Amino acid sequence: MRLAERMNRLGTETAFEVLVKARALEAQGRDIVHLQIGEPDFPTPENIVQAGVRALREGKTKYTPSAGIPELREAIAKTVSATRGVNVTPNMVVVTPGAKPIMFFTILALVEPGDEVLYPVPGFPIYESMINYCGGTAVPYLLREENNFRFDPAEFRRQVNHKTKLIILNSPHNPTGGVLEASDLQVVAEVAQKFDVTVFTDEIYWRVLYGGKFASLLSIPGMAERTVMLDGFSKTYAMTGWRLGWGVMPPALEPHIARLQTNSNSCVAGFVQYAGVEALTGPQDSVDKMVAAFKERRDTIVDGLNAIPGFTCQTPGGAFYVFPNTRGTGWGSKKLADYLLDDAGVACLSGTAFGAQGEGYLRFSYANSLENIKKALVRVRAAVEKIQD
Ligand code: PLP
Repeated sequence: MRLAERMNRLGTETAFEVLVKARALEAQGRDIVHLQIGEPDFPTPENIVQAGVRALREGKTKYTPSAGIPELREAIAKTVSATRGVNVTPNMVVVTPGAKPIMFFTILALVEPGDEVLYPVPGFPIYESMINYCGGTAVPYLLREENNFRFDPAEFRRQVNHKTKLIILNSPHNPTGGVLEASDLQVVAEVAQKFDVTVFTDEIYWRVLYGGKFASLLSIPGMAERTVMLDGFSKTYAMTGWRLGWGVMPPALEPHIARLQTNSNSCVAGFVQYAGVEALTGPQDSVDKMVAAFKERRDTIVDGLNAIPGFTCQTPGGAFYVFPNTRGTGWGSKKLADYLLDDAGVACLSGTAFGAQGEGYLRFSYANSLENIKKALVRVRAAVEKIQD
């Protein structure tokens, strides 16, 4: 088989590879604590499950419009309008199987060879993968630990020019848990307007915030016209396996993104979309409870990691990841992550899974029970102490 040249430019998400390796160890009888994947361990709330089952029984099992059923686009438009303080209408919404396709479709629709795309590093690996796949020039902007994993405004400004087509933001951030502040977004809005750039804002973790008010680029006057916002149900409603997400975009872009959907997935399963309507319009207390549980786990894992020799860990403001600095161990990140899986039975990711600049860090997801997190901390500590003897 002779693959197309562009396949050489397609990256991947290491979390899925580590999951396979961890499962193989479990098949040999090993006990593994899974702190590698970004998936809430809570069940999907019962009211949402019931709505999905009801829709199945009612025969919502046929094709739907590519952009999504009107009820869900309406519910999304209302939710986004209310939470971002901007007027979003249903013709600005495209519903996709998981939020990931919004990333793919937006880059496919906007980026041509020669176009520069700014993206965060460390960062979600699919951004760089898609930019390269579509022939764009990937321009990383750094999120440094000493700056609470936010970008440096002066450096950021210098990286935007007339070749910049798209700027990718992600806040709260995977893998660091960093959160951009309103002043950071003002910088982005200013340069985007100056150089006529579109901004892609990945807000999938916006509900998982441990204090303060969430700042969205969409809320800045004039930005809705040049912003594509990604959000979805996977994290907020513990619905990763349902595959349901959405994009909000200027009305002129929507038919093109919907056409990409027609060409690929056709549409999202109808009964899944009805479950999504219930998620957005039904009671929200399960989300608040989940976030309160994440906060307790965050505090436990941060304290535990800081007690390990060679590790230092900041307290993240959002999402459910920590990104400890592990340089003090003297071990490279990949070697350390492999060792923790093999020796301690704790699955985590090397910082380099999020770009070369992630060297010196590990990523732990704390979307796991407090009991498992405590067990993992004991094991990691013992394993690290062993290599430092
Ligand atoms: N964006 C970020 C930053 C993520 O971490 C993820 C999932 O891990 C996604 C988007 C995609 O989410 P979904 O499962 O809805 O496709």
